[in-house]
Amino acid sequence: MNLQHIIDETFAELEPRRGCGAVADYIPALANVDPGKFGVALATKDGATYCAGDAGEAFSIQSISKVFVLALALDRHGPRLWDRVGREPSGDPFNSIVQLEREKGIPRNPFINAGAIVTTDHLVDDRSHDVAIDELVALLRKMARDDAVHVDPEVARSESKAGARNRSLAYFMESFDRLRNPVETVLAAYFRQCALALSCKQLAEAALFLAFDGTDPVTREVVTSTARCRRINALMLTCGHYDNSGEFAFEVGFCGKSGVGGGILAVVPNKATIAVWSPGLNEAGTSELGALALRKIAEKTGWSIFG
Ligand code: GLU
Repeated sequence: MNLQHIIDETFAELEPRRGCGAVADYIPALANVDPGKFGVALATKDGATYCAGDAGEAFSIQSISKVFVLALALDRHGPRLWDRVGREPSGDPFNSIVQLEREKGIPRNPFINAGAIVTTDHLVDDRSHDVAIDELVALLRKMARDDAVHVDPEVARSESKAGARNRSLAYFMESFDRLRNPVETVLAAYFRQCALALSCKQLAEAALFLAFDGTDPVTREVVTSTARCRRINALMLTCGHYDNSGEFAFEVGFCGKSGVGGGILAVVPNKATIAVWSPGLNEAGTSELGALALRKIAEKTGWSIFG
């Protein structure tokens, strides 16, 4: 299979639709991103990466960071995390608070904002929030084989300034005594992890461990166990796109995680990782062009996880 041809053809077919969807504007620093950006990168086990368009340009990965933080938190603290966060799709928007009251401060899954805040709380346990994020950046740099991976300080500041909803979620959970660290400490780490800046190429390479049983096939870095890796992929499939997760599984058939920066990370177990970026979002906060690109790649490769 000529993967570069598939990536080039997908890009060419969708290029006329660059700019579709609506750029997230609730975080001011994201509102300024050029809506016409469009990048695609596919990474394979042998260390090869096939790219098109703006695949080399760093963008704000936002909620895609939740996948890496979940892998690290589980690896460090084990299954105790599941006492504090569920594993069910929420069917609600990414920043919804309603379910938290019904379920006494236990978020439905680690990919909605409330659940990710709990996962980040785990990550900053027994270390400062700066050290926790520095370790995360170091791991991503190693796996992306690129020291340019960084946290964008302007986006992090903007997130914090516009962070009323995330603060509400965190303080609400604290009212049920669900956080172990001070709310503002956890949020400082959460805002910085969301502000991680990676290109599609770096992202696809950094996530390869998810396609290969928890071990990066290129660097040989063991990020998580085979069993945990399968479970993270299961959560990406069922909860990776908020209340759009069913539609993504139906149309694309890859495990995936979206971010409001317009990136989507897709995992095809035993085959590849694919990262796409186009800032215009659909109503559920998933990149519109990015999802179309992944759907085309799934069709052209025949790689849907459903056979
Ligand atoms: N930083 C965003 C927030 O917390 C992440 C949301 C997303 O990417 O889906 O609102």
